[in-house]
Amino acid sequence: MKTCWLVLSAVAALALQAAEPPEPRIVTPGQNGSPPSDASVLFDGHDLSHWTDGHGGHAKWKVAEGVAEVNGTGNIFSKEEFGDCQVHVEWASPAEANGDGQGRGNSGVYLQGRYEIQVLDSYQSKTYPDGQAGAFYGNFAPLVNVCRKPGEWQAYDIIFHAPKPADDGKTILPGSFTVLQNGVLIQDHVPIKASTTAAVFGNVSATGKGPLVLQDHGNPVRYRNLWVRSL
Ligand code: MG
Repeated sequence: MKTCWLVLSAVAALALQAAEPPEPRIVTPGQNGSPPSDASVLFDGHDLSHWTDGHGGHAKWKVAEGVAEVNGTGNIFSKEEFGDCQVHVEWASPAEANGDGQGRGNSGVYLQGRYEIQVLDSYQSKTYPDGQAGAFYGNFAPLVNVCRKPGEWQAYDIIFHAPKPADDGKTILPGSFTVLQNGVLIQDHVPIKASTTAAVFGNVSATGKGPLVLQDHGNPVRYRNLWVRSL
């Protein structure tokens, strides 16, 4: 009887061992929004060498004093392509608030060149809810308006899961967006249907990856500290 219990305990211990998940790999965190050790740093304030104009040329936005600024030369495209990923990006609308609605500090962060998290000056400035700052443009308004004043730096932390083909190879399973603005949850795992895109700037490759695109909407929006972790 004693032997029987010993054998049973050994089997149980083995089963527990088998169920144990793999040890998480080590990532060194950054300080105050700076990139963790496993991030692709797409803009660290120096130059736009990780970006193109989407037509085979260099990205031509103005870079000065650690900041990239929209200057009317068109959208810019990351050279590296991403599938599921985590994005950290800091942006500031112009300190002098000109225009209104969609014409005030408009830019945007496009995942795979097609799903836009809106950048806009929505501080005491109204537009349609699914087009204001932090909206998944044309699909979901942000849960709250947590915008800082014009000219002040703001952060988006975006968790993106791309739409993917289902096992049947025919249907496309929805992806999702979760977004924090200035540390506050504004998009809570909202679905991304492949068909819900409002604009397409980048192609998704056969591997299911596409570029990150920053929008030139004609307003001098500034960017800094942009990094991405593939998930
Ligand atoms: Mg926009």
